[in-house]
Amino acid sequence: MTSESTLRADIVEVGRRMYARGYTASNDGNISVRLGADRLLMTPKSVCKGFMTPDMMCITDLEGRKLQGDRDPSSEMLMHLEVYRQRPDVQAVVHAHPPTATGFAVAGIPLDRAVLAEVLTTLGSIPIADYATPSTKELPEAVRKYIKAHDGMLLANHGALTVGGDLYGAYYKMETIEHFAKISLVARLLGRENLLSREEVTRLQELRGSYGIKAPAPICETGSDPRSGSDPDQSCQVVQAPAGDGARLVPDSPPSLAQKLSASYGGTPANASPEAGEIRLTYRELSALIEDAVRNLR
Ligand SMILES: [Zn+2]
Repeated sequence: MTSESTLRADIVEVGRRMYARGYTASNDGNISVRLGADRLLMTPKSVCKGFMTPDMMCITDLEGRKLQGDRDPSSEMLMHLEVYRQRPDVQAVVHAHPPTATGFAVAGIPLDRAVLAEVLTTLGSIPIADYATPSTKELPEAVRKYIKAHDGMLLANHGALTVGGDLYGAYYKMETIEHFAKISLVARLLGRENLLSREEVTRLQELRGSYGIKAPAPICETGSDPRSGSDPDQSCQVVQAPAGDGARLVPDSPPSLAQKLSASYGGTPANASPEAGEIRLTYRELSALIEDAVRNLR
């Protein structure tokens, strides 16, 4: 068992790293660890995570009653308590607002595509918990749906939450989520993502054992999407991985401009020459295309 003084110092260090990496601004974010069977050590309310000292931390019981500390526990304490209730294996919880991952949470786009091997072996899928007013009991309710099957999730229009078997494990998952979000954003800006095939994802799942990584939950069967159900707690992970027919990577590119034009105008315009790799549009055609794309996004 790690000593209380070491855990206090570890929380200070993780807070400093989160702030230095821009995962939190001002007093955002919160961190907690289990301190024995029935107590938690938690960051206090209204302090910048980049400038904490070990004596600032609060000790609470698992119901959130403060047992020790000059300051009040984090305003998101209810969310932390819910995680510990639902996941006896979890020893630490980290919450932050890393900007790229939070951008995905604001756009309502989950990080659930099979793209990077290390993400699939550590976190699997990263869903988005429904929007909830911060610091209210709505937030633990939103988190409850996903926490049994996931070690990391986005919080709609808010931030991200990660858990782990120790504090650094939970923190590294936050780093992985933000790193994955940045890579996904760049790939999407470049206009194309190659996805890992279903078969490759299965292979990676099997490799987890040899790395000693415990999966929080199995991947859902192809075709089943528990998100479309009547809101039960999810017991499997939704991962977007198409069948590969033997291939490990499956191209997944959005419709080309020519395809979009063809759909919009019922045929390729006279001045479009896709054979030459060039499409010329009038201003009016371009405006129509953009309006159409925006409509399709909604
Ligand atoms: Zn927050």
